[in-house]
This record gives sequence, structure tokens and C-alpha cells, in this order.
Amino acid sequence: MPAPRLEISHIVKDFGGRRVVDDVSLTVMPGQVTCLLGPSGCGKSTTLRIIAGVEKQSSGTILVDGKMVCDGDVSLPPEERHIGLMFQDFALFPHLTVGQNVAFGLQSRKATDRVHALLAKVGMSAHINDYPHQLSGGEQQRIALARALAPRPRIMLMDEPFSGLDDRLRDDIRDETLEVLKSEGTAVLLVTHEPGEAMRMADEIALMRNGKIVQRGAPYNIYNTPKDKAAAAFFSDIN
Ligand code: ADP
Ligand code: MG
Repeated sequence: MPAPRLEISHIVKDFGGRRVVDDVSLTVMPGQVTCLLGPSGCGKSTTLRIIAGVEKQSSGTILVDGKMVCDGDVSLPPEERHIGLMFQDFALFPHLTVGQNVAFGLQSRKATDRVHALLAKVGMSAHINDYPHQLSGGEQQRIALARALAPRPRIMLMDEPFSGLDDRLRDDIRDETLEVLKSEGTAVLLVTHEPGEAMRMADEIALMRNGKIVQRGAPYNIYNTPKDKAAAAFFSDIN
């Protein structure tokens, strides 16, 4: 077994006496997409924000490639965690071209080749000199993906990244995104409240409810053998 890219153990988060993340442990293996799936308000985004380092957990530990990035004593700042981020409101820099957006987090010497390779991968090479406002929502999404991947993050965190897209586009963009992530070999923790999205994209699903992971497994195992009535009901409105 290879070592996990991301390993979080016993993460707890209390907000003003209310426990919103309750003893969450998770691993993401190299090259795999793990999906944190659960209804709105169950604590998914808070978990992701803690891993990213923009929120501090009440207790628990986080390792990236076996290296402690956060426990009771140490807490590396977000920029030292080698984590890529994509959120629903992925804002591209409006005053920078597509090429400059993708190159933003890179050292200048290596940037050009990497930018060209990534733009080719997301099918946007012809748009390298365009500005974000000249692009459609789907095209902006592709650039946001290229930008997040450019520094070769050890783990990519994605929080409902497709929910701002219109229905007609969403399935195609999901498939394209997955293809690019797989070709880069990027380990991904994807948050979603849509069971259909998790079924489509995940290698492993962690089902979350009221701050806890209630079931983990391969998508079809969870779908076929939900642990309890609530899990079964949740999967029944798959689209
Ligand atoms: P999800 O992403 O699964 O929809 P969140 O992690 O955003 O859930 O939120 C989980 C719970 O924590 C919600 O009840 C939310 O209101 C609460 N919460 C999130 N952030 C804060 C905060 N900064 N202060 C207080 N409560 C918060
Ligand atoms: Mg959320």
C-alpha cells in the first residue's frame, strides 16, 4: 500500500459550544478522488477549510504526505501546506490574462512550459491572451482548474466546484475535470451534497451526517448497501 497523500485524524471543531465537526478521520490515497458527501450543513466545508488551514480545528491532526501540517502544537500556514483549492466562487484575477492567471503561483523560470501544457490539457490553448470576462462560465472553470493544478499541489480540495454551472454543462465539465485530474495524478478531496456527483467522480465516498462520517466505501458499495435508512433515503434522490 502506498502512503496516503492526506490523512486527517479525529478532527473536531466547535463553534460557540456547538460541535459541527465531530471526530472526523479520513485518508486520500495518491491519484484517487475521495468524496466527502452529505446534506447541507453537515460540516463538509468546515472540514475542508480546516485542512486548507484557513480555519483552526479544536482538536485532531492533519498530515500531508506523512508530514504533520497541523496538530495541537504546530500549524503550517495555508501556503506551506502544498494544497490546491477550488471553490464554487473560483474567482480568476480579472485584470490578468488566462496565461497570467495560470502562471500566477509559479516560479517564472518554469512557468511557460507548465502553462502551455495545462492550457492544452483543458482545451484552452487558443485563449491564452484572453481576459476572464471574455470567457463563458465553463471556460472560466477550466482555467480555474489549470490555475489550481499549476503548482502541482500534493492534494486538491474542491468544495462544490460545479454548483455554479448550468445543468447542461455540468456533466461534461465533471467528466473533463476528472480526466484532467487523473492525467495529472492529483489526489483529490471533493465535497458535494449531490450523491450523483459522488457516484460519478469518486473512487471512495465518505458519507457525512451531523458532523460525523457515518459510512465509507466504494461508490457502488455504499449505494447498494447503505448503512441505515437515512443513508438509503439520501441516495434515493440521485439524479
Ligand atoms: P456544509 O458545507 O456541509 O454545508 P458547513 O461546514 O458550512 O456545512 O457548516 C456546518 C455547520 O457549522 C453549519 O451549521 C454552519 O452554520 C456552522 N458554521 C460554519 N461556519 C461557522 C462559523 N464561522 N461560525 C459559526 N458557525 C459556523
Ligand atoms: Mg459547504
